[in-house]
Amino acid sequence: MITFYPGPSKVYPQIGKYTQQAVEKGILSQNHRSSAFVELSSQTISLLKQKLTIPPDYWVFYTSSATECWEIIAQSLIQKQSYHVYNGAFGEKWAKRTQELGINTTQYAFDPATSLDILQLTINPAHELIAITHNETSNATALSSTFLRDLRQSFPAQLIAVDATSSLGGVQLDISQADVWYASVQKCLGLPAGMAIMLCSPKAIEHALAINERNHYNSLALMIEKMQDWQTTYTPNILNIYLLNQVLQQVPSIEKVDKMVKQRAQAYYSFFEKIEGLQLLNENPAVRSATVISLKGSLNRIAHIKDLAKQKNIILGNGYGKWKDTTFRIANFPAIEDFEIELLKDFFNTMMS
Ligand SMILES: *Cc1c(COP(=O)(O)O)cnc(C)c1O
Repeated sequence: MITFYPGPSKVYPQIGKYTQQAVEKGILSQNHRSSAFVELSSQTISLLKQKLTIPPDYWVFYTSSATECWEIIAQSLIQKQSYHVYNGAFGEKWAKRTQELGINTTQYAFDPATSLDILQLTINPAHELIAITHNETSNATALSSTFLRDLRQSFPAQLIAVDATSSLGGVQLDISQADVWYASVQKCLGLPAGMAIMLCSPKAIEHALAINERNHYNSLALMIEKMQDWQTTYTPNILNIYLLNQVLQQVPSIEKVDKMVKQRAQAYYSFFEKIEGLQLLNENPAVRSATVISLKGSLNRIAHIKDLAKQKNIILGNGYGKWKDTTFRIANFPAIEDFEIELLKDFFNTMMS
């Protein structure tokens, strides 16, 4: 079976071997306050910074999920008002969760078919934080590479928080252009589900300490205290931290991964333009994601393709939200291997002939 599901997605083929090692080394039975854990955690964070080119003064935290990061940000980094920019289901859910937690959210929804226009944003000084999704997994769109830089320049006072769940580890991001970044590990990082990482700029740390909210197990002020010793406020997913450590040792630098992912994306986009009865969900190349590809067709056609693929042991990602039945998605994550992409293309070529 090969899977192109965009989350949970295919894990790196070495995960079985690394899991076995983790058991044999006894790391899984170590206490999370032990020096063995502290060593693993600090080494993993420095590898992450090195491989993903994260500025040295940024902090790295382990959390349980991207969803948990929505809560941490709402609880610990916003007192009254935030500004949410989105064009799809994940960004919208983030805004909704934040609102439910008592924050007054202003929401700007933009059309997924067009590039986001910074001049349309009505951000004012009362907005403490701007929440934006880098790669909207639900509709396979991404922000342009220059957008976050422009946003940072236009709104230097606000904190900027970015959901990069389906792009961190897959494409190169200029981490210095935002204050908070987070991603669950089961997408571009090619790991089993059940953990996320969150990056914070010195400005975000300063804010969290000034607000000093301490009512939750993962209040940022408490997380900062523990992370001074490379620890967590709760018993973390030690296995996943070990697997992240091993995967980071194995993967090339993000510049190289970025290049490979973008080449594969280009190849997919030109390939699917030639397949009859299927259209790219995003006709505008400027908004297309490099890490998630979405194709649309008639209800029957999509159901038929998914069925046929399943018979060949190929799992395509279902559509999401309002595109559930008229699209399918293909994860273009780095853990997917060339031979699997070839098998997928063979499948479509055979189907057409
Ligand atoms: C998958 C996803 C999430 C949710 O991740 P969880 O690990 O389920 O919390 C949030 N945002 C985006 C953009 C996603 O793709």
